[in-house]
Amino acid sequence: MIKAEYIWVDGAKPTRTLRAKTKILPSGTTEMPQWSFDGSSTNQAEGHASDCLLEPAFVAPDPLRGGDHKLVLCEVMNIDGSPHSTNTRALLRKVADRHRDQDPWFGIEQEYTMFKGGRPLGWPEGGYPAPQGPFYCGVGADEVFGREIAEEHMDACIAAGLKLYGINAEVMPGQWEFQIGTAGPLEVADHLVLARYLLYRVGEAHETSVTLHPKPMRGDWNGAGAHTNVSTAAMRTEGGMDVIRAAMAKLEARHEHHIAHYGHGIEQRLTGLHETCSYREFRWGSSDRGASIRIPPATAAEGKGYFEDRRPCANVDPYVVTRLLIETICD
Ligand code: ADP
Ligand code: MN
Ligand code: MN
Ligand code: MN
Repeated sequence: MIKAEYIWVDGAKPTRTLRAKTKILPSGTTEMPQWSFDGSSTNQAEGHASDCLLEPAFVAPDPLRGGDHKLVLCEVMNIDGSPHSTNTRALLRKVADRHRDQDPWFGIEQEYTMFKGGRPLGWPEGGYPAPQGPFYCGVGADEVFGREIAEEHMDACIAAGLKLYGINAEVMPGQWEFQIGTAGPLEVADHLVLARYLLYRVGEAHETSVTLHPKPMRGDWNGAGAHTNVSTAAMRTEGGMDVIRAAMAKLEARHEHHIAHYGHGIEQRLTGLHETCSYREFRWGSSDRGASIRIPPATAAEGKGYFEDRRPCANVDPYVVTRLLIETICD
């Protein structure tokens, strides 16, 4: 017997969330079957015609249940088999196909905040922790909070075969980051969604909720982003810096369009303070953490490589951010 956890993205507004339910399948099942769900309970259908279809898109071993159990990431389809209006993966598939020859690669840095009892881990009841400074990549019980969850999540991602690049504690206490990549657009987005799912599940076992809110604590505290690192084959080869420069001009021309789709609440996070550039401006620069787009040191030194789009928020849809970047840079 296989417990198959069917996972999909719902229609919640303004930010879509994950849903999951379990299907028991006979041992040895290799093709995961289509399934359905009540779309009227996920903001994806009206009550009078409420069935939506789950079309398996990416299957991984389930590291939490172990054995032959599976995680089944699904696309949501209408009853006639066409992609549902909330199915951003289907849109990315088309755009990724169109630009396969440019071989775009991505790495997404997922920041997140852990909450327990209504406040972030490490925050005292009814007060504030010490000002930001010692917490980023901190070590020691007074500098870092939630490490057991971050470690368990890392092990779960590795056991599921996800392309995990690394993890680190972040600037605000209770905030952490993991990175997925480097991988093609569909792969990076699929792996990121499953990694988010595993993070919520690991948190459940610790009675700790995880939020991807871009500014979980108002005031002088860093927000949570999803820096998206990008390269095309031409950027990675000799003369790549010229291709990156050309991409900066295209990105500047479509700045507002990107901002509009980089996560609800972006104007709370991109204030121009706390290692961000205001959402009203577009600037790029080498090693500049106050820019919209940063050129990493190795890329500047070698004259080829990749760039980091620092604008996307932690709650961004990974199928949207990768699609927009491909459309803007490669079309
Ligand atoms: P930062 O210094 O901004 O904190 P991280 O070390 O957290 O950066 O993450 C670096 C990210 O860059 C990783 O997700 C990795 O997959 C990605 N990356 C590395 N090389 C490339 C490349 N050539 N193209 C796209 N992404 C890349
Ligand atoms: Mn990082
Ligand atoms: Mn970070
Ligand atoms: Mn970064």
